[in-house]
Amino acid sequence: MRYVSTRGTAPILDFRDVTLTGLAADGGLYLPEAWPVLPTETIAGLAGLSYVDTAVAVMLPFVEGALTADELRGLCEAAYGRFAHAAVTPLVQLDHDQWLLELFHGPTLAFKDVALQLLGLLFERFLTGTDKRLTVVGATSGDTGSAAIDALAGREGIEVFMLHPAGRVSAVQRRQMTTVLAPNIHNIALDGASFDDAQALVKAMFNDRGFADRFALSAVNSINWARLMAQVVYYFYAAVRLGAPARRVAFAVPTGNFGDVFAGYVAAKMGLPIERLVVATNVNDILHRALTAGDYSKGGVVQTPTPSMDIQVSSNFERLLYDVGDRDGRMLAEQMRGFEASGAMRLTNAQAEGAAAIIASERVDLDAMAGAMGWACAQAGQVIDPHTAIGLAAARRLPPGTPVVTLATAHPAKFPDAVERATGVRPTLPARLGDLFEREERYATLANDFATVTGYIAERAPSSQ
Ligand SMILES: *Cc1c(COP(=O)(O)O)cnc(C)c1O
Repeated sequence: MRYVSTRGTAPILDFRDVTLTGLAADGGLYLPEAWPVLPTETIAGLAGLSYVDTAVAVMLPFVEGALTADELRGLCEAAYGRFAHAAVTPLVQLDHDQWLLELFHGPTLAFKDVALQLLGLLFERFLTGTDKRLTVVGATSGDTGSAAIDALAGREGIEVFMLHPAGRVSAVQRRQMTTVLAPNIHNIALDGASFDDAQALVKAMFNDRGFADRFALSAVNSINWARLMAQVVYYFYAAVRLGAPARRVAFAVPTGNFGDVFAGYVAAKMGLPIERLVVATNVNDILHRALTAGDYSKGGVVQTPTPSMDIQVSSNFERLLYDVGDRDGRMLAEQMRGFEASGAMRLTNAQAEGAAAIIASERVDLDAMAGAMGWACAQAGQVIDPHTAIGLAAARRLPPGTPVVTLATAHPAKFPDAVERATGVRPTLPARLGDLFEREERYATLANDFATVTGYIAERAPSSQ
């Protein structure tokens, strides 16, 4: 499989190089040159397969030329063997139409583990036998950081610098990152910053080609294609269990950076009959405005009990705009440059119509979020986290008659205060994380300033030149 950039001028890469790279050299994001389509019989044949077998069938076309089916299976067995549930991502029924897909049984209790456990093994695999070393730089609103750190701690040839906005991640989230004391892990709390500030800093490092090349920068944010690829799997796994391809299934996706829902879009492009993908946003609703009114414009970021969705610029939206905009990289590059300069842009008619063909959106406020948590608890005995509740509130607005799967993106114990407020139940951490609050923490607090942060990294990262 060959990979192209959304901005049309970066070199075409194979799967190995696209995995090891972050942002494309032209500032765009990589995606496959063409979508592999699984025939209906192949999708029907996924019925009853294990998660790992489903993963191999869905991902094989994307890794072609870089990994054999057996190699891919070995990596998937290692990655998903670390999950605490034998089904990896079990489905739970809430009422006649409503389902939860629990994506939080990995080591750090959020769906990010599904992709990052595999990505860590892919990095190691592609570095082994080379003298190449990687500097992984990431920005996190909480969950990506802990999942990446768990997946990469102690791995040979990889140095990790993880930036989080100081004071804006939950205590559980922070401790899951800062109590990992492996020498290749460097946590940075950015003073006075929002997640968008942290993400903008990381983007600027990738766009500084001298810096990016000197330290072989690599991304674990969902700008990394391999992450999205791993997330496509569970759309197939869930839909097939609910009767696909004979029956259409809808998905409601708590959305921040548009990575998870873009993976659903990819599943649809590969032939999975998805009735609708519902982008569920909190009050930070740039995506809802873009998808309903064509208005993609930044506002201020409001802090909510769903920090992983407190975001204004959703990196992966660019991938959708590229694919529904006739894959015209030069046009998109111009459009995105305009957005980067002014903080606002309008979707073209082709983009708006292309998106609307499969994607809907809902904005869910704090009352509706709490209402969904209360409903799940009282009606179905399920304690859900605030992000999942945003998705479920959106799912319950769909007309009845089609099964709707809400992606349960985090374990409720990651956000105990918000859950207790809405339901009266205080969720407890699974036993494997029970001593989190007794562990030693280590992190640096740095000013939200490009020179300060790059200086800190330059002193500690292996230089490739
Ligand atoms: C990352 C995250 C999201 C948002 O996912 P995107 O792929 O960024 O849209 C939602 N919920 C939780 C719990 C998350 O960790």
